[in-house]
Amino acid sequence: MKPITTESHEHDPPADAGWDYSPAPERTPVPIDESYGLFIDGSMRAPLSRKRFETINPATEDVLSSIADAGAKDVDAAVQAAKKAQGPWARLKASERAKYLYRIARRIQERSRELAVLETMDGGKPIKESRDVDLPLTAQHFFYHAGWADKLAYAFPGRTPKPIGVCGQIIPWNFPLMMAAWKLAPALACGNTCVLKPAETTSLTALKLAEILQEVDLPPGVVNIVTGAGATGAALAEHPDVRKVAFTGSTEVGKVLARSVAGTSKKLTLELGGKSPNIIFADAAIDQAVEGVVSSIWFNQGHVCCAGSRLFVEESVVDEVVDKLRHRMQSLRVGDPLDKNTDIGAINSAEQLKTIERYVDAGEHEGAIMHEFSGQALPDKGYWHRPCFFTGVQPSHVIAREEIFGPVLSVMTFRTPEEAISRANNTPYGLAAGVWTNTGSKVFEIARKLDAGVVWCNTYNTFDAASPFGGFKESGFGREGGRHGLQSYVKF
Ligand code: NAP
Ligand code: MG
Repeated sequence: MKPITTESHEHDPPADAGWDYSPAPERTPVPIDESYGLFIDGSMRAPLSRKRFETINPATEDVLSSIADAGAKDVDAAVQAAKKAQGPWARLKASERAKYLYRIARRIQERSRELAVLETMDGGKPIKESRDVDLPLTAQHFFYHAGWADKLAYAFPGRTPKPIGVCGQIIPWNFPLMMAAWKLAPALACGNTCVLKPAETTSLTALKLAEILQEVDLPPGVVNIVTGAGATGAALAEHPDVRKVAFTGSTEVGKVLARSVAGTSKKLTLELGGKSPNIIFADAAIDQAVEGVVSSIWFNQGHVCCAGSRLFVEESVVDEVVDKLRHRMQSLRVGDPLDKNTDIGAINSAEQLKTIERYVDAGEHEGAIMHEFSGQALPDKGYWHRPCFFTGVQPSHVIAREEIFGPVLSVMTFRTPEEAISRANNTPYGLAAGVWTNTGSKVFEIARKLDAGVVWCNTYNTFDAASPFGGFKESGFGREGGRHGLQSYVKF
């Protein structure tokens, strides 16, 4: 089926409007080394594996740097360094541990523009997002957990929380530095030491974080960073001296890790994929709801685990919602992620772009109607996908069932609250959901019945370090953030 483009729509800007935004590129210079080693026992070292891979800027396809590909021996060296450091770190006065975390948080703030630019260059996300979302939340997680370090007895009244030991932490590419903070900060606050494995396509900000850890004189071995691909992550999770595995990524790899730690005494937390629903009732503030849907699915190119990729609209307002969605979609600017006006940056990798394209093809093939705005030219190089949405979607369609991890929204309808709940819950996932209504009682009733770790009401994608985040069903188990998140890093 031919995609519906919005050129003929009444809200389109007139063809002869004759103006456009001037380029507004972020120009903060970021020093990037030609090659990086592994951060083990407080210093950068060459990989024993002697293997390397390149990291590129997905908006230009330029090579940014050469990254070490840690083998099993490198992982072992990192785990041994963490094991040696763990006792002294745990015995350090808790208020001293807190000071290190405060220092890390402050240094992240001081270097935040540089880190935001690097995040955008390595991963493709718009600078306004890395600058205004990723970096503030990264610093906030260190500040927040610094506050807990000497108050753990209050977090778990009547119990004596003890550290678990060495934590192996594996993170994805969509919020690289923020995910590193979500993993490291609670672990360190509780007296554990860490070996962190960033995603293959986005290692650079983790390596800059290693510089910061050196600047604040964090004792050697307390945090170790091993770069590499899936095999590096597997070696880390399987290492016998790792006492806890914390993973954020796909449900597929999460299942592999669950199998790998089964039968051991290792602790495991999994933050996995999602197919999160937004539910718009007819009595909602429609403009506000549409804005929430836009931010839930189209920012960060849809590379968000809790992206609101399924939209359920009460039948009586579906035309209005679809109209406004289309109007808003055509105002989104796709392009140079370093431009401060850009809403949608580059897709993280050629592989991810292919995955998204395959799903869009499947949606059209199964008979859903694709709506996209093709008015803006895309850059010649790099990996791009325009924001789009589908109407005429059936629950059985693959685009309504599987996680796409791209800027692709499926719009469906419902008639009664019961139908909305059962359709929203009809998924193996359960990470997040959004409810849009002006009726307070409906909010509470629906939120209670949705199988989702987070339910946002009349908002979406709002985060706070004090608020636990995590999934139901195949979206994983364990929480990150808040007192619940601390619980994953202590034993009693
Ligand atoms: P992924 O393929 O599962 O990768 C995640 C991490 O695991 C990467 O560091 C990856 O290394 C590593 N890895 C791959 N195979 C492994 C193995 N066999 N053993 C150990 N580690 C392994 O996921 P992704 O494609 O990077 O990220 C997207 C997924 O993450 C989506 O499904 C999304 O929903 C989910 N996600 C969830 C949350 C949440 O909080 N619930 C947050 C963000 C993302 P390489 O990069 O080198 O392959
Ligand atoms: Mg890259």
